[in-house]
Amino acid sequence: MMRSMPVQHTRAAVLPAARGAVRIAPVEIRDPGPGEVLLKMEACGVCHSDLFVAGLEKLPLTPLTLGHEGIGRVEAVGDGVWQFAPGDRAGMTFLGSTCGSCDWCRAGLERFCPRQLNFGYTLNGALAGWAVAPASHLARIPAGLNAAEAAPLCCAGWTAFGALREAGLEAGQTVALFGYGGLGHLALQMARGRGLRAAVADVSEEKLEMARAAGADIAVAADNAGRTLQKQQGGADAAIVFTANAAAIQQAFRALKRTGTLVLVGLATTAYELPLVDTVLKGVTVRGSYLGTARDLEEVFALACAGVVRARVEPHELEEAPALLERLRRGLILGRAVISF
Ligand code: ZN
Ligand code: ZN
Repeated sequence: MMRSMPVQHTRAAVLPAARGAVRIAPVEIRDPGPGEVLLKMEACGVCHSDLFVAGLEKLPLTPLTLGHEGIGRVEAVGDGVWQFAPGDRAGMTFLGSTCGSCDWCRAGLERFCPRQLNFGYTLNGALAGWAVAPASHLARIPAGLNAAEAAPLCCAGWTAFGALREAGLEAGQTVALFGYGGLGHLALQMARGRGLRAAVADVSEEKLEMARAAGADIAVAADNAGRTLQKQQGGADAAIVFTANAAAIQQAFRALKRTGTLVLVGLATTAYELPLVDTVLKGVTVRGSYLGTARDLEEVFALACAGVVRARVEPHELEEAPALLERLRRGLILGRAVISF
């Protein structure tokens, strides 16, 4: 294989050690091995899961390049790569590779593969000028999409879509979205696209205003959202919790109608508690939702091409990544912060 230009190092958002401080540092670029591609990155979103990874007590790979929401252009391919050719655009998600042969892989549930590798966690990620990635699970990115707007679809959009699908609702039913950040704002657009009634709960009045402006049927303060939604809407058929917050989970549970579905998405290392009697007597379903299927990801990009979904993007440079993570931790990002390279 021929590389189109001689590149040796690139700058990346690097976690030097578990619970270390994220910094911008040079990392080596290697040639793509068998089944891998070399990508010149165009854009990468900053996700709450980057914070989750940065806060873990142990990490399998350090120093680690963060980032799992990246759009890049293929510059070179390793042996055996048939999925992409130089010049193609590709999207890096959290799902880097899977075994292909376990029960979950064979059932089309590859995201639950116990041997999966993840960009920005067990594989170096997309917050870098260049990245080497297994080709097998990279997304195909339609040519018409702007890279900065496409990047958040690779994690936030995909995950929101999967959660909404797994909520199992039909047009006219009500979904309550807890957390109006990167995932929540895309979920609202998708919910409206599906003809659902959508309620949004968040702790930030500014984000609630944004949700109203984006067409939320109701937008309420998160700390009393359960009771408010019961009173004003008769409860929700499903509630999806995008925030990594145990209090939000309880409010979401309280917001449910009888036989409603609680979908948990946001990650934290804490436990959560729910009322047992109500879970049983109201026939509540509690389920986790992680990423989505390959088809889901294709549908997300189709929705973006059709104009149904459009990420609200705050543009930034790589050098700002550590400060952006801190702002994300404090809930100060509106929509998605995206690094352009
Ligand atoms: Zn993510
Ligand atoms: Zn597998």
